[in-house]
Amino acid sequence: MANPIATTPAKLQFPVEVIGADHYGQQFFERTRTLTIHRNGVSIPLANTVAPDSEVILRNPENNEEAIAFIVGQTRDDTGHVYWLAFLDPSAAPWHVQFPAVVAARMVELECSGCHSMCAHSLSDIELEILGATRELTRPCKNCDMSRIWRETSREAMEKKPGNSSGQDPSPGLNASPIEERRENRRMAMKTVACVRFSGVEVVVACEDISKGGFRFTSRKEYPAGTRVEAAVPYTKSSNNIFCLAGILYCHKMPDGQFRHGVTYIKTRGSIGWDP
Ligand SMILES: [Zn+2]
Repeated sequence: MANPIATTPAKLQFPVEVIGADHYGQQFFERTRTLTIHRNGVSIPLANTVAPDSEVILRNPENNEEAIAFIVGQTRDDTGHVYWLAFLDPSAAPWHVQFPAVVAARMVELECSGCHSMCAHSLSDIELEILGATRELTRPCKNCDMSRIWRETSREAMEKKPGNSSGQDPSPGLNASPIEERRENRRMAMKTVACVRFSGVEVVVACEDISKGGFRFTSRKEYPAGTRVEAAVPYTKSSNNIFCLAGILYCHKMPDGQFRHGVTYIKTRGSIGWDP
């Protein structure tokens, strides 16, 4: 069968399986359908509530192809929450929908709702869509060190700098693609060593893309998705390290034979400060 050819955005309903961690760090698996498909993402209704900083795996059950995606926005329809997700790898296409040639990216000035820092940002097509629908975009903020709601602003990006004097450039990667920029944001000060403990065996790993919800690491050892481990991030040898309960969200074999893992922390009920 020929691949469907889409205009942007395409209202195409395809089955999708979503694997992720909810607001409380509990892993979930949910079968749903796409509402719209974009060159670099999808919108899907979800019964589970996903934290804005988290990544999920989207799987096409018809060919078992997967893509890692992150949230760029949220809307509602008659059935509940609709999440707008961009593929981490822009070339991912689990549904093999073909799109017309890329048109020039649209640049916007965005303002962080938390610290009011501004940045120029080149919108991907799914970001353009969600910004048009809600006037908001979810993306990481370097100053706030977390995912924030950003709104379009007409003020000059350089007019107002964030209040703190960290000296950081509030407009990172003016020419970087949204995905590269996100990767760059998440990679800040992230050459961190972690320790993964499983069945009493501790393995020290280099980790990347650390966020509040989890991290990624590559190792020769394979930890299958769904494995519960304990993880200490950061990890310092011959020091007291705090291990947290964590779950392997996904495990991908890489061309060099190593395994790339996504890890999400598992919050335990009844811990201090728990706020259901
Ligand atoms: Zn901010």
